[in-house]
Amino acid sequence: MFKKILVANRGEIALRIQRACRELGVKAVMVYSEADKEAKYVKLAEEAVCIGPAASPLSYLNMPAIISAAEVTDAEAIHPGYGFLSENADFAERVEKSGFQFIGPTPESIRIMGDKVSAKQAMIRAGVPCVPGSEGELPDDPVQIRRIAKSVGYPVIIKAAGGGGGRGMRVVHTEAALINAVQMTKAEAGAAFGNPAVYMEKFLQNPRHIEIQILADKFKNAVYLGERDCSMQRRHQKVIEEAPAPGIPRKLIEKIGERCVAACKKIGYRGAGTFEFLFENGEFYFIEMNTRVQVEHPVTEWITGVDIVKTQIMVAAGEKLPFTQRQIQIRGHAIECRINAEDPFKFTPSPGRVTSWHMPGGPGVRVDSHVYNNYFVPPNYDSMIGKLIVHGDTREQALARMQTALNETVIEGINTNIPLHRELMVDAKFMQGGTNIHYLEHWLSQHKR
Ligand code: ADP
Repeated sequence: MFKKILVANRGEIALRIQRACRELGVKAVMVYSEADKEAKYVKLAEEAVCIGPAASPLSYLNMPAIISAAEVTDAEAIHPGYGFLSENADFAERVEKSGFQFIGPTPESIRIMGDKVSAKQAMIRAGVPCVPGSEGELPDDPVQIRRIAKSVGYPVIIKAAGGGGGRGMRVVHTEAALINAVQMTKAEAGAAFGNPAVYMEKFLQNPRHIEIQILADKFKNAVYLGERDCSMQRRHQKVIEEAPAPGIPRKLIEKIGERCVAACKKIGYRGAGTFEFLFENGEFYFIEMNTRVQVEHPVTEWITGVDIVKTQIMVAAGEKLPFTQRQIQIRGHAIECRINAEDPFKFTPSPGRVTSWHMPGGPGVRVDSHVYNNYFVPPNYDSMIGKLIVHGDTREQALARMQTALNETVIEGINTNIPLHRELMVDAKFMQGGTNIHYLEHWLSQHKR
């Protein structure tokens, strides 16, 4: 096992990784920007290094600063968390060339999966079902683009090969709007992701977002840890996640899970990863793979009893996966609400000083957050300030626990989306389970204020 790891991230995931390190008896070096020196994990750290000013390009995206922090502190490995440099193949490569272990897959795997076009092609080869669409990147010729759209069938969605975070996508309903939409998406993709390549998929009308968590070691052992339902989204961004997915037969999950495991073995994948699918009319369609730990990993940890972050570190250190597929049992139901510092119904960001922070507790309640009383939420980063996760023997019990937990939660000084979660947890359709990816947006349009 490593003696010391550098945590190249911020916020709740930095704290989560620090906790995993403590349990493993590994020292964690925390890095922070000038805006984050008050964060809980920095105060709790044995070692912490300031890597630059608040702006992420100068700190959390600053590769030389992060690698020198690892050098001066004698860390052996770097955990990238999620976001920032976690899916940057060049970073993974530089980390390894500088003599550190990157806690994640190989740069090559990240590169293949980071480009959604090459990822889809790899999945097709590995026998994973994909959304029907263009065979690869769209050509420039409008005649050919129209022909592809016609054969895919309208509506279609134009997506950036290098896209992420719900950006770089455009739905097209008619041929008249097609070419303009392709050009606009290309221009945006070039500016936002440095890669203008776009591809086309059939736009599925009422799918659910279902994803499969996998873990793999360096010895080609891989397991899937069941599924998560992340259909409650706003602007293609997840708001609530749960596991298992309500109403999907276990047999279907097992079938797709086994395909994902086979794909991991085929591409020599190692570490944690997530295969994201759209699920419609009983069929799974692969959309992308995330080659890192995800925000919503706790719901899977709770129903399987597997510590995903600890296992990530163990396999990076060269250990074998400590369990086989047969040992993975699903127990109960877990739900996660992302806590965002924003207006609950208008969604304007709400950074600032937290004057009061009271988190819920009791059986089956977990809070992952770096925030504390009197903490200042900096305006420079993502609005997510924590996660509230509950577990119950049944979905009904988990819902009841989440309702109680949300009612106990008090956050003052800033706005948060807790009031939105409170309403969603008692919404009849959500309580029934199985809502699709458009449900939350639809709900919001009906509950304008
Ligand atoms: P990102 O990497 O930006 O998260 P994804 O490819 O994972 O992009 O897609 C994010 C979300 O966009 C999906 O969860 C879904 O809501 C929507 N989406 C993507 N592709 C399609 C499609 N072919 N049909 C319908 N919705 C889609």
